[in-house]
Amino acid sequence: MHTPTQYADAGWSPPHVPDDVFWRSSFINDMGSVRHAFAPLGCNMSTTSGSDTDRTILRRIKACAAIGSSIECLVCAKQAHDQNIAVVGAKDGRRVLDGVDGFATNDPGITLMVFTADCPTVMVFDPAQKVLGLAHSGWKGSCLNVVAALIATMTEKLGANMTEAWATIGPCAGGCCYEIKEDVAEQVEASAVDASSVLRQETDESKLYLNLPTMIGMQLEQCGVAPEQIALPSQCTICDERFFSYRRQGPNAGQATLLARIAN
Ligand SMILES: [Zn+2]
Repeated sequence: MHTPTQYADAGWSPPHVPDDVFWRSSFINDMGSVRHAFAPLGCNMSTTSGSDTDRTILRRIKACAAIGSSIECLVCAKQAHDQNIAVVGAKDGRRVLDGVDGFATNDPGITLMVFTADCPTVMVFDPAQKVLGLAHSGWKGSCLNVVAALIATMTEKLGANMTEAWATIGPCAGGCCYEIKEDVAEQVEASAVDASSVLRQETDESKLYLNLPTMIGMQLEQCGVAPEQIALPSQCTICDERFFSYRRQGPNAGQATLLARIAN
């Protein structure tokens, strides 16, 4: 009988010093070589959704500074819930790519940023080749296996190898709250590595729940990332009100970001 892997805790925690607003993962910090930050509620990183969007640029400048970067080095995208991955470098600073849900780079001169409000953000890093990947993987992207597309781009275009690679996921909707309908469940059944370990049906009600972080963890493992090198968030953005949540706050929630760069 198949026993689903229990992945490590990514150790996401709020800032420890005054003036810092960004969350960090102790798993990523312990691994080294990548600087990162995750924006919590109150730090809207979207220019189109949520409140106080006219000051979003200032928050992006602050987020870049928090990881020793600058906004001139920042690349982001109009995400499309698809599986297109862009290879980027320093020349892509300040660009907004269209229809892209992930980035791969081996250049410390570029800072990658993906947006989210409940959707998992996924980071993959090969410390041997110093290749960094970042992707947005909501239920649509996860059913398309965007993580496999990200890792294929990292390996085929940038020479990454998953033997020593590690991966982690930002705070996102958890299996406790992420209710889905039958049509989504059917797509999960058709695409997940092991749908029975990620779908849950309450016995006293007809509601169906999806554990997206575990679904993605199993995809990372299938792509060659060692299970002990995969860490998932313990927070759920729907029931933990310290985060932006599309499900809890609605379509004008605003957006968090995970941003990261290779340390130089
Ligand atoms: Zn929850």
